[in-house]
Amino acid sequence: MGFAATVLTLYPEMFPGPLGTALAGRALADSVWSLETVDIRGFARDKHRSVDDTPAGGGPGMVMRADILAAAIDAANAGASGRPLVYLSPRGAPLTQERLRSWSEGPGLMLVCGRFEGMDERIFRARPGEEVSLGDFVLSGGEPAALALLDGVVRLLPGVMGKTASMEEESFENGLLEYPHYTRPRRFEGEEIPEVLLSGDHAAIAAWRREQAEAITKTRRPDLFGRYEQGKRTGDERD
Ligand code: SAH
Repeated sequence: MGFAATVLTLYPEMFPGPLGTALAGRALADSVWSLETVDIRGFARDKHRSVDDTPAGGGPGMVMRADILAAAIDAANAGASGRPLVYLSPRGAPLTQERLRSWSEGPGLMLVCGRFEGMDERIFRARPGEEVSLGDFVLSGGEPAALALLDGVVRLLPGVMGKTASMEEESFENGLLEYPHYTRPRRFEGEEIPEVLLSGDHAAIAAWRREQAEAITKTRRPDLFGRYEQGKRTGDERD
């Protein structure tokens, strides 16, 4: 049995969406992973099938009801417990490569997608899980965030990417952004491929790439670079 993803959403028709094509789509067809959606609206109780209500205390928009969410989560859980429960939320912990990797080594995920103004706060205590954010911006719903999260997890599953060695050098895997890539033609609009990459000297190429990765990380992401340097220092102390 492969990695099992269950997505709780008001828009099940958004899935698998882009995850049905390319790398993730092939892995889905090959049962490397599975994807199931649970339509939250199916757990509405009244004749209007409402899943949301006006915010207590007033204000704009609507709030997803905790009782309906709980019923949907319980139904999804009935078949497959032991999988981490994740709420997509701009207030959550920002997603990291490290987090994706640890989920990819587990049995699967249950993802809950919000809509409207978000979810009734009590759901987070009634059905404890992890709140996760795609970044410091607001989407209209959790679905695109769930698609992005799953895309990132699925490519880490064994056998999905051809060359696993290429993953180890990727952005974030070693705490740095990746070095720049080049391919043919050798000269493009007056700019040549850096000489060292054509030298065949593997040690020189590795050193150049490391240098480039460090320089790019230092200018673009001083936050990452600081942590990388700190990691190197504590690593040295251990040696
Ligand atoms: N009123 C909320 C935003 C609600 S957006 C606030 O200001 O925090 C509606 C839903 O979209 C959220 O419940 C969440 O599931 C999803 N969403 C929006 N932005 C997101 C982000 N950056 N990461 C993950 N999910 C997000």
